[in-house]
Amino acid sequence: MDGERAEPLLWTCTACGYHVEGELPEKCPECGADRGEFEEVPKPDY
Ligand SMILES: [Zn+2]
Repeated sequence: MDGERAEPLLWTCTACGYHVEGELPEKCPECGADRGEFEEVPKPDY
């Protein structure tokens, strides 16, 4: 019964490895890669 998805997502830029939490940015602030370069990273369970 865990219907909530309030946890922020974690994304990683596959181009440079930059991590961003929450909303996917338009482009990577680090290397300027398109948002299509980002992959969602599953968060570890605490
Ligand atoms: Zn990047």
